[in-house]
Amino acid sequence: MQFSLDHKTASLSVGDFSDFALGPRDSFGGPQGLWRAQLGQHWHNELKTQIVREHTVGGTLRPDVLFEVPIEGRLAHRGWSITLTGRIDQIIGPTLREIKTVTRPLPTEESTLRADYPAYFLQLSTYVILLRASALNPPLSALNPQRSTPNCSPLRSELVFVEASSGLAQTIALTPFDEALVHHQLDALVQFLDQQLRARERRRTLHFRPPFTDLRPGQETIQADLRAAFGCVESPESSVQHSGEDSPTLDARHSTAAPPLAALHSQSATILLFEAPTGYGKTGCVLEFALSQLQSGRFTRLIWLTGKSTGQLQVVRTLEQMTAVASSGPRPGQPREATQPAPTPSPPQPASPPAPPTPLSPTPATSNPIGYFKSSRFGRTPGTSTPIGYFDSSPQRTPLAQSNPIGYSGQSTAGKQPNQSTLLGYLLPGAPLAFWQVRNKSEHCVNHTYHCVREGCDYLNGAAERWPGSGLSRYYLDETQPHDLDTLRAAGKAAHICPYEITRAALAFNDVWIGDYNYVFAPDNRGLFFDQPGFDPRTTLLAIDEAHNLPTRVADAYSHRANDTDARLLLAELDHLRAPGPLLLAVEAWTMLLAALQPTDTIDAALESELHDCIERLVRLTATLPLDYTALGPKHSETLWQFTALDEFLADPNLRRLLWCPRAGELNFTCTDATAAIGETLNRFGGAILMSATLQPYATMAAACGIIQVGRGVPAEPSSVGKSDVVPASASRLVGTTRPTTYATLHAPAPWRENAYDVAVDTRVETTYKQRANYYGTTAATIEAMHAAASAQRAKPNVQPSTLNPQLSGSSPSGSELSTLSSQLSTSSASPTIAVFFPSYAYAESVLRALENSNSVLRVALQPKLPDLAAQNAWVEESLALTDALFLVLGSSFAEGIDLLGGRVTHAMVVGPALPEVNPVQKARLETYAGLGREAAFRRVYQIPGLQKVNQALGRLVRAPGQKAKVLLHCRRFADTSYSSLLAMEYQFYREISTVDELRAWLNETPTQA
Ligand code: SF4
Repeated sequence: MQFSLDHKTASLSVGDFSDFALGPRDSFGGPQGLWRAQLGQHWHNELKTQIVREHTVGGTLRPDVLFEVPIEGRLAHRGWSITLTGRIDQIIGPTLREIKTVTRPLPTEESTLRADYPAYFLQLSTYVILLRASALNPPLSALNPQRSTPNCSPLRSELVFVEASSGLAQTIALTPFDEALVHHQLDALVQFLDQQLRARERRRTLHFRPPFTDLRPGQETIQADLRAAFGCVESPESSVQHSGEDSPTLDARHSTAAPPLAALHSQSATILLFEAPTGYGKTGCVLEFALSQLQSGRFTRLIWLTGKSTGQLQVVRTLEQMTAVASSGPRPGQPREATQPAPTPSPPQPASPPAPPTPLSPTPATSNPIGYFKSSRFGRTPGTSTPIGYFDSSPQRTPLAQSNPIGYSGQSTAGKQPNQSTLLGYLLPGAPLAFWQVRNKSEHCVNHTYHCVREGCDYLNGAAERWPGSGLSRYYLDETQPHDLDTLRAAGKAAHICPYEITRAALAFNDVWIGDYNYVFAPDNRGLFFDQPGFDPRTTLLAIDEAHNLPTRVADAYSHRANDTDARLLLAELDHLRAPGPLLLAVEAWTMLLAALQPTDTIDAALESELHDCIERLVRLTATLPLDYTALGPKHSETLWQFTALDEFLADPNLRRLLWCPRAGELNFTCTDATAAIGETLNRFGGAILMSATLQPYATMAAACGIIQVGRGVPAEPSSVGKSDVVPASASRLVGTTRPTTYATLHAPAPWRENAYDVAVDTRVETTYKQRANYYGTTAATIEAMHAAASAQRAKPNVQPSTLNPQLSGSSPSGSELSTLSSQLSTSSASPTIAVFFPSYAYAESVLRALENSNSVLRVALQPKLPDLAAQNAWVEESLALTDALFLVLGSSFAEGIDLLGGRVTHAMVVGPALPEVNPVQKARLETYAGLGREAAFRRVYQIPGLQKVNQALGRLVRAPGQKAKVLLHCRRFADTSYSSLLAMEYQFYREISTVDELRAWLNETPTQA
C-alpha cells in the first residue's frame, strides 16, 4: 500500500484491500507456500481452457469473453481518495468471475464458505463496484455495451471455488449485501490512514531527552559523527570512514560542526557499521540519533533488533526514560512560563578522573540521578522533583547542544514549534512515542496447547468476528496503554482472542519495533513485520545490535534438520488418522530415504535430487489434501509443514547450502552462507546501523552481510511499491531511482580504554587440538600464578619482583615452580576472582582436572548450563563472591552476554584463540571461500570468528573509565601476526612471554608500572 498523508490519497491492490484487517484474520494454520499458488494457477488454466472451448464459434472466441482483465478505479471515502487496482480472472459477457482454489472438500454450505473466506467475497465485490462506479475503464465499457450508465449495470458476479485435489467447482453468486461490505472495509482502511496521520504528528512533535545526564569521554561528538556517517554531512574532522576502510583508530577525530537540518533530508541512505566498546553506551547514543531521525521525518519507523531479550528490555527502558515526561513541563524549544521554575544546571564535573556516564538503567537510584521522572511509560506519572534538568545548560552538554539543533537544544523540532493543537485536533500535547517489544508467539500463548490451528484453539477460531467488539483496539489507539506480556495475555484471555493478535494488530501503529533478528531476517518469522499495513522498509531505520552475530544467526534461521524418527512417528499418526493414500505413500518414501542415510560430510548429487523430488511431492500433497491438523497435533503438523521450508531451502538461489548426515538417519540442511539473503534484506531498508563491540575487520563484516560497496549501485525496487509519507520531496529521489548501497564505518572513540589493558602473550604453550594436552599442567600452574598475582596486587600493590623466589629464574617452566610463585604471591587473605576463558567445555574440564591432580586449593567455578540470563547472572555473582577462578567458555553467553566482570576482575587468561571446531560445515564454508586463497579463506572461516570471541570476552573486563585488567593470552598463536592483527587495538600492544621469569616479572608489575 502506498499512501500520501499530505494529499490524503492511498493506492493499493484489490487483493491487499480485501485482505486488509486491523485485527486478526481468519487463519487455517500451516504454510501456504509456492505450491498452493502453483496449484491455483493450474486450476485457473483448466477453467480458462474450458471457457474458451465453450465460447468459441468457428474458431473465434466471443469478443466479450476476457481473461485476466486489469481493473482500476478510485473511490472517495471520508476525505480520502483511494485508488484500487487488480486483475479479475474472467469476464464472460455481463458476468464477472473470480476463481479461488481451496483444500476443503466441495461442495459445502454457502454460509461456511462465506464465513471462512470473507476476503474472497470482498475482492469480487470490489471489482464489481469499481467497474460499475467508475468511468475509468473505457475498454470494459466498450466490451460491455449493455453497461450504458454507471449505476444501472446489469453486471453479475460469481465466485468459483475449486477443490484443489479434484478440480471440483462450486459457484456462488454475490448479492448486494456483499457490495455493502466494501464500505465497511473502506471504513477500516480510512481508520488506519487517519491513525497514520496522527502518528506523523506524534513523531513531528516528539520530545526526548538525551540518554545520559553526563557524557563519557568519547561521547561528545557521537551524534554529529552518526549524522556524518549517515550521509547527512561529513565533517573533514570526523572519525567516520567511508567505503569500508579498515583502519581502526584509537584517537578518532571529532566532528564539531552541526549539519544543517535540511542536510538530513538531502542525502542518500546508507548502511553504517558502528563499532563501540562494551560500556560505551551505544544503545543510548543510537537511540538518541534514531529519535532525532524520526522527529525530522527522514524515517517513519525504527526497527531495533537484538538477539537477547535483556538487550530488548534495555532498549525499552531507555526509550521509556528518554521520552517519559513529554507532557510535563515546557518542552525543549518552548519558552518557559514565567511561573515555572528555571532549570537547574547540572553541576560542573571534575576534570579528572573522568566521570563515568550515567546511563538510564532500570534501578531508579542509579539510573535517574537527575530525578525528573519517576515512573515508566506504563502508567506515566511525571516526577515531582523536577527542576527540569534536560535543557543543555550543563557544561558537558553544551558542545552537543550546539551541534544538535533538532534534539533537546534550544531549537524547535525541524524548525517547527511544537503543536498544541494538531491537524486532527485530537493529539494531546506531548503524545508519547509509541514503541512495542515483540515477544515470541509461544510466549503469548494462552491455549492449553501451543498449536495454532483454528479448530484446535478457541482463541483463534472466530477471533476476527470477536475483535470489533473486544475493545482491544485500545492497544493501538492509546499509546499509554500498558502492553507488557502479562497484560496482553490477560486481555487476550478476557476477550477470548489470541494475545499475539493484539501484538500483530498494534504494530502498524507503533513508531518503534523492538525484537529478535528473526522478525526481519528469518523466512518463517519475517511476515509479522513485512506484512504490516503501511510498512515500508525504505522509510525505516534498521538498528541491529550485536551485529557480529548476524551472519551466523541468519544462516541458522535458514537451516533445517530432519530425522527418521520424526518421519516414522508422522507416518504412524497419519496412518492412524486414515490420511489419504498418496500422502501416506509419500511420507513412507521419505521415511525410508532418511532411514537409509549413513553419516557423511556431504550427500551426493543423485541422492539430493531424489530427496528433492520426494520433498516436492510432499509439499504438493500437503498443499492440496485436506488434513485434520488438530488431530495430528503440534509436533506432527510441524514435521509436515517443514517440507515447505525444505523445498524453499533447496530452491533458494540466495543460499549456499550443505546437505550432510552427522549420524545415521539424520539429514541436516545447513545454510553455510546467507550473505546474499542478508544483503538483499539490508538493501531494502532506507538505512541500517549494524553495531557491536567487535565488527572489525569491517570489510569482512560488510562482505559477510552482503553489503555492496561504493560504485556498485543497485537498482531500487520499482517506484510502484514506494510511498511517500513524511519523506520530503527532496528525499523522495531515493525512491524509484538507483540507490547507492554504500556503507560507512564508525569506531566510537573511548579514550578511557587506552592503557586500561596490560596484555601479554604466553608463547610457552600451544593450545592447538593436537598439542594442548601437553600443556594442561602448565596452564593449571599459570592459572594459580595469575590468581596469586591478583591476590598480591590486592593485598600489596607494590610487591616487587625481587621479593620472589630466586629459584624461578630458569627458562623451563614447570608446574611446581609456578606453584611456588603462586604461594609467594599469595600474601593476602583477600581472595580476588580471576577469569579464565577457554575455547570449549572439554578444554576447561581438562585443565580443571590438571588443577585437581596438582592438589591445587584454588576454588574454581566452571560455567554451568543455565537456561536464562538471570540465572547466569546469579551464578556469576555467587562465583565472584565465593571462588578464586571463573572458567568461562568463549562465545557463550557467559563470555559475551554478562556485564558483571567489568572492574571486578582484574586478572584474566585466554587459553587459546577460540577457532571454530573443524566439522563438515566449516569445511564446506572453507570451500565456499576457496576462491579467496587458502589463507584468506582460513582467516574468514576460522580466525576472524575465533578472535572475535576473544575480543568480545576481553571487552567486558573494562566497561568504564578507571577500570583496568591484566590479560594473559595463553598460546603462542596469539603472537602470530595473522592472529594478533585481529585483536582489538587495545590488546595489540602486548608483551611476549617465553620464560617463567618473564611471566613472573610481568605478573608482579603493578598497574602503575604497566
Ligand atoms: S492462543 Fe496459542 S495456540 Fe492459540 S493461536 Fe494464540 S499462540 Fe496459537
